[in-house]
Amino acid sequence: MNKGKVSFLDLVGLHGEIEKELVSVFEKALKTASFIGGPMVEDFEQEFAAYCDTRYAIGVNSGTDALRFILIAAGIGEGCSVVTVANTFIATTEAISQAGALPEFVDVDERTYNMDAGKLRDFLEQECSVDDKGKVISRRTGRVVTAVIPVHLYGQCADMDAIQGLAERYNLKVFEDACQAHGAEYFSKSENRWRKAGSIGKAAAFSFYPGKNLGACGEAGIVTTNDEQLAKKIRMIRDHGQAKKYYHDVEGYNGRLDAIQAGILSVKLKYLPTWNQSRREHARRYNEGLASEMSIATPYEPAWSKSVFHLYVVQVENREATIQALATEGIGTGIHYPIPLHLQKAYSNLGYQPGDFPISERAAGRILSLPMFPAMSQADQERVVHALVRAVNDTAAQCTAVVSN
Ligand SMILES: *Cc1c(COP(=O)(O)O)cnc(C)c1O
Repeated sequence: MNKGKVSFLDLVGLHGEIEKELVSVFEKALKTASFIGGPMVEDFEQEFAAYCDTRYAIGVNSGTDALRFILIAAGIGEGCSVVTVANTFIATTEAISQAGALPEFVDVDERTYNMDAGKLRDFLEQECSVDDKGKVISRRTGRVVTAVIPVHLYGQCADMDAIQGLAERYNLKVFEDACQAHGAEYFSKSENRWRKAGSIGKAAAFSFYPGKNLGACGEAGIVTTNDEQLAKKIRMIRDHGQAKKYYHDVEGYNGRLDAIQAGILSVKLKYLPTWNQSRREHARRYNEGLASEMSIATPYEPAWSKSVFHLYVVQVENREATIQALATEGIGTGIHYPIPLHLQKAYSNLGYQPGDFPISERAAGRILSLPMFPAMSQADQERVVHALVRAVNDTAAQCTAVVSN
């Protein structure tokens, strides 16, 4: 039996397999002294747009920038609010606030952890009013609700047909937070075809943070869209508001994707389909290994979804004890995320209370992310399964013992 550690994520191993190709990117950048913009960035933008089935892709500095620039380019700011979910990384709402808008939350589906379209409908019908110009006004904030950002959490698409149907009815823009969903697919019933994450909404944001399914060796992100005007604006915003050097139409940001990262991402993009496939196989093996354990809830994948399992997230009763037991066996885990955004100190000003989003709050106390990365061995997976099953049974036995005393 393999007695070594099972890390939560092994990037060293992943990069080791393609080290020569990655190093040659650095060499190429050094020899051409092309570090910002240039052909490596343009090539990668085209490759990633093709991968996502979109017309445009605009490389930026991070996933957070991608979200922020989308909102700014779409004119969403002062006086606006944007609906999203509370169980996401804070970048989603930072982008909303930093564009000048306010975040509003709706709860998630308890099986997929993604935005519950029914809850979005309830919010729009019961907590908003439509004025005579057709503007949707939130009663909570008094702001005009202008957009929805569903987050494709853990690598699985939100139910986009349902969300887009509502958005059309209320004239809201839909932007995808696809920062965890490179290559995920969604079966659109309205179009009767599979669609790639990032090609469904008006625009989408991807992160290439090193640990993402497609990760840079530093910070990077990208916007995908089919909207030519939006693409043009984002190209300017990411580069100090200039389309031509030193001719600034607007104030922008220093938010470009650098050439070395783009070159690295081009190399890694070729492997992404294989890596995602490995993740799906690991997920299937975890599902099988944990299927008979009633106290462990495994991820739910609807028929209309092909998840790329950025994270493999289970729910357990006694999370702290389970984490400790796994750590003792050298198995790394994570929690994504322990505190829903509406209960974070940073958002105390929004006035939400515990109990406002019960599904998100309950999940936050129970979710546990298991080791998941493409090169994970079958032996390591078996170790995780056995250790987890033992841990939940031991902690359950301890609880019963306490109760019966
Ligand atoms: C990673 C992530 C982001 C932010 O991406 P960065 O590249 O780290 O700025 C945004 N949203 C979600 C859901 C993420 O997981």
